[in-house]
Amino acid sequence: MQAEIIAVGTEILLGQIDNTNASYVARGLAGLGINVFHQQVIGDNPERLDDAIALAEQRSDLVVVMGGLGPTRDDLTKQVVARHLGRKLVVDEQALNKIVTHYKTTGRSLGDNDRLQALYVDGGRSLPNENGMAVGDFIHQANWTDFLVLPGPPRELIDMFDRTVVPILRDTYQIEQRLKSRVLRYFGIGEADLARQLDDLIDNQTNPTLATYAKSGEVTLRLTANAKDDQVANALLDKMEKTVQDRIGQYFYGYGDDNDLATVVVNQLIAHHLSITAAESLTAGLFQSTIGSVPGVSTVFPGGFVTYAASAKHELIAVPQSVIDQFGVVSEQTAIWMAQQSKKLLHTDIAISFTGVAGPDELEGHPAGTVWIGLAYRDEPVVAHEYHFADDRQLNRWRSVLNGLDLVRR
Ligand code: ATP
Ligand code: MG
Repeated sequence: MQAEIIAVGTEILLGQIDNTNASYVARGLAGLGINVFHQQVIGDNPERLDDAIALAEQRSDLVVVMGGLGPTRDDLTKQVVARHLGRKLVVDEQALNKIVTHYKTTGRSLGDNDRLQALYVDGGRSLPNENGMAVGDFIHQANWTDFLVLPGPPRELIDMFDRTVVPILRDTYQIEQRLKSRVLRYFGIGEADLARQLDDLIDNQTNPTLATYAKSGEVTLRLTANAKDDQVANALLDKMEKTVQDRIGQYFYGYGDDNDLATVVVNQLIAHHLSITAAESLTAGLFQSTIGSVPGVSTVFPGGFVTYAASAKHELIAVPQSVIDQFGVVSEQTAIWMAQQSKKLLHTDIAISFTGVAGPDELEGHPAGTVWIGLAYRDEPVVAHEYHFADDRQLNRWRSVLNGLDLVRR
């Protein structure tokens, strides 16, 4: 079973919008065990769309055409598909009623084009659109390529795909296999190192498969099992997870697609009722903004300080001028004082501080990327750790934040 995806829309072709629908559908088909071997993007042009369809049907068992089902003049997808297959378009009466009622209740007048949204290819199956007016279409052909026609707006497409298309495809192609994924998240190891440690597993992967992704300083590993039910899939995933964790478990910090380091750390603080504050120099509030993005953080984060200039470190959180003069702002001592003072001022369990050189220029003789992160935890002695990042200004600041989160986590 081989599928092909054709996205229709000049704005996709010109890069004005991202082809997120194709990603969504490709992932969804993969989840059903249907391989996507080709993708095409075509502007709103009937001839070129017809060419694309002709090419696709030669090499694929299922062709998904997305976009161009709307009421405007450039929306011609269904017409082109119908003509290509030598079939008529017929009216889905229920969908037409919905359109007519919608126009009545909103007090607008109904144009001929609006009615087109209720059409589907004769002999196909009209797919209801819960979030819009244009119906989708599934055309199953006994000894030839099948066609699936879906609306362009992502909200409409995603809902239609999940709600209606997946059950139809399972049914039509008698799909029992399902894919089940587990995402493991790591910090403190680069993607290349992680891949190297799992070299043999990645090379010989069959079931589950392994894929690594690096995104803004964190690395995730996705294990995907293909099995006939959840129980079998889970057993396969458990076994592979154990093999993986025996090798790189020391860098592991959490599961899940959306569970980034900030989310894990904040939830940990909430669970242990530990409050936190921060004094930030080179990160200028980025740490606080990052934890601020996690829902529920207000119960553990009263606020904090942005102490960018040396004078602010002194005036806002009373780091002694003598410390700054003697050791400089980029120093262990300043980081320690910043953490200690902010913890004292806001009476928190934890305080973290950032001071260093974001770049591109050096500061106090320290190269860009030199960063001290201080950590004060309850009554324990305040410590500071030195880092040397070698990235650009923004990434140096972001790596500081991630390493700060990592210190808090431990
Ligand atoms: P409409 O009724 O809104 O005209 P339609 O089915 O005709 O729907 P298009 O006109 O092709 O769909 O696209 C509508 C909007 O949906 C686009 O402006 C774009 O924002 C979004 N869209 C279309 N195709 C894609 C795609 N492949 N990926 C992401 N978004 C898309
Ligand atoms: Mg349109």
